[in-house]
Amino acid sequence: SAVDLAKVYGFGDTQVIALGGVSVEFAAGQFTAIMGPSGSGKSTLMHCMAALDSPTSGKVYIGEVELSSLKDKELTRIRRDRLGFIFQAFNLVPTLNAKENITLPLDIAGQDIDKEWFDTVVRTVGLADRLKHKPNELSGGQQQRVACARALVSRPDIIFADEPTGNLDSRSGAEILAFLRNSVRELGQTIVMVTHDPGAAAYADRVLFLGDGQIVDEMFDPSAEKVLERMKNFDPIGQVS
Ligand code: ATP
Ligand code: MG
Repeated sequence: SAVDLAKVYGFGDTQVIALGGVSVEFAAGQFTAIMGPSGSGKSTLMHCMAALDSPTSGKVYIGEVELSSLKDKELTRIRRDRLGFIFQAFNLVPTLNAKENITLPLDIAGQDIDKEWFDTVVRTVGLADRLKHKPNELSGGQQQRVACARALVSRPDIIFADEPTGNLDSRSGAEILAFLRNSVRELGQTIVMVTHDPGAAAYADRVLFLGDGQIVDEMFDPSAEKVLERMKNFDPIGQVS
């Protein structure tokens, strides 16, 4: 959860208020989608919540733990043991094949691989026959599926995903969303996902709408139609890329 989170980039005349005091809670086992125009602060909020960036002011809690009170080492441990990430740019290691990329977080942490879970993850994201391929031998969509599998393989408490389906065709996108949805239901996973796509947001339990660094609205049990309608209200410029 976050309390009064603010993030200001730059200083003086070039100052940008990316987040203007956001308080939000992501309940365990809840799938939240974050929507809003380009530049509204979605990625910034996600990065602050995921301990990848530090807020200018305000506090972030992962469970009971307040992040700014932690030493770097403890922060790294929380990121590694409790959080999973899926980025807009896939961040795969080019010299490793798909399987090695997927298991990298576990290898780094010296953790054992649950073979059954690994197979489930790989099958569900549709990579079973591409495990030996390096990233440059995979399509953009397949690379994104490797990134999804990598985020899921350690069974993190919370997955943060920034446009996880942005680079996928609609069928692969739907498969990954269904998989995320399923991991919420079956594993009680908490997921926070930034998306521009009303269809993707419809997989979530809740949608937060950001505008100019503030939460401007919230919707539960969204449908693509309801989300689209709401986007029109809050986004008169129609800046939905
Ligand atoms: P998009 O949908 O395009 O990804 P977003 O909602 O994720 O947009 P953010 O990336 O959170 O937007 O950016 C919020 C604001 O902060 C923007 O105005 C952006 O220009 C600014 N900003 C983001 N990162 C930096 C940075 N490192 N330095 C300066 N300004 C930044
Ligand atoms: Mg962004």
